[in-house]
Amino acid sequence: MTNIYDLPKDELISWLEKRNIKSFKAVQIYEWLYIHRVKSFDEMTNLKKELIEELKKNFRIGDIEIKVKEECDTALKYLFELEDKNRIEAVVMKHDYGISVCVSSQIGCNMGCAFCESGRLKKIRDLNPSEIVLQLLKIEEDAHIKISSVVIMGIGEPFDNYDNIIKFLKIINDPKGLAIGARHITVSTSGLVPKIKEFSNFPLQINLAISLHAPNDEIRNKIMKINKVYSIDTLIEAIKEYIAKTNRRVTIEYVMLEGVNDSRECAYELVKLLKGMNVYVNLIPYNETSHFEFKKSSTKRKDEFFEILNKNGITVTVRREFGSGISAACGQLRAQGGANE
Ligand code: SAH
Ligand code: SF4
Repeated sequence: MTNIYDLPKDELISWLEKRNIKSFKAVQIYEWLYIHRVKSFDEMTNLKKELIEELKKNFRIGDIEIKVKEECDTALKYLFELEDKNRIEAVVMKHDYGISVCVSSQIGCNMGCAFCESGRLKKIRDLNPSEIVLQLLKIEEDAHIKISSVVIMGIGEPFDNYDNIIKFLKIINDPKGLAIGARHITVSTSGLVPKIKEFSNFPLQINLAISLHAPNDEIRNKIMKINKVYSIDTLIEAIKEYIAKTNRRVTIEYVMLEGVNDSRECAYELVKLLKGMNVYVNLIPYNETSHFEFKKSSTKRKDEFFEILNKNGITVTVRREFGSGISAACGQLRAQGGANE
C-alpha cells in the first residue's frame, strides 16, 4: 500500500478529484501530516468519515526507525532503519543561521567514486520520496528542532533517483508541507549531464552543487568513474547551459585529496576551467576513512589552493568540518557495521 508521504500535493489533489472530492481537502490532509504530524488517519478530525475510510483503504502512514544516534557539539548523526530493514543515514548540522540536514537519496550508490564510502557499497535500491521526507520528520520530532535547510548530500546519487527526488523537493518546499524555501535546499550531483539539463526546467529555485573534484579528465577519470561517461568538457557545457537558463549560481564542490588534486597546477587549471562562469567553489576537507588510502590535504596546501583561486577572481569558500569525530562523512556510520548490525 502506498505510503502517504510519497505524494506531492498535486498528486493528492488528483487522487481526490478522481473521487469527486474537493481539492482543498488535500490542504487539510497535508496540514494533518506535516503540521500536526498525526500518525493515523482517524486523527484527521475535520475530514468526513467516508474520506477517512477511503484514505485508509488506499494509503498507510509509513515510518522509519532511529537505530543509532551520535552527537557532538556541532553535529548530530542518525542511522535509520527502513521498513525493509535496509539502513540509511542523515546528518544534522548546527549553524549560527539555523539547522541544516544532509539526507540520503539511495541505499548505497552505483557511481563508485574512488574516495567515497557510499560508493563502496553498491546500490541496493532507490529511496522513495517518503523515505527521504521521513528522515526530516523523524529528526524534527526526535531532536525537537525546526530544520531550516536541507542538502541532498548523504548516501546516494540524487540524479540517479531523479523522479523521487523531484517529488521529495515538492513535498518539503510546499507551504503546507515542510515549508522549506527552495533557496534553502541544495541538490548535489556527481555530474549526470542529462539530468542536469532536465533539472534546468524544474521551476523551483533549488541550489545545484556539482561534485567536480578535479580540473582535468586525467585526474577525474581516476577518482570518478562517471567522468568516463560525461567528460569534464561535457559537464562544464551542461553547467553553462544550466546557468544560462536558470540565472542561478552553481556550487562547484572540490574535495581536497593530498597529492591527487591539490597542487598549484591543479588550482591554476581550475581557474582556467571556471573563469567567467557564475559559480563558486566550495573546497571540502576530505574526511579520511579506514577503507581508502586517500589523505586529506594539509592546511598549507589548502590555503595555497584557496589563494590561487581567490586571487584569480574565483569565489571560493572552505567547508566547515562537521563532526568528523562522529563519522559524519557520507556513508561512514553505515559502513562501520551499522548497516548489518
Ligand atoms: N552523490 C552526490 C551527493 C552525495 S556525496 C555527489 O557525489 O555529489 C556529497 C559530497 O560529499 C560529494 O561532493 C562527495 O564527493 C563528497 N564526499 C564523499 N566522500 C567524502 C569524504 N570522505 N570526505 C569528504 N567529502 C566526501
Ligand atoms: Fe556516489 Fe556521490 Fe559517493 Fe560518488 S561521491 S560514490 S556519486 S555518493
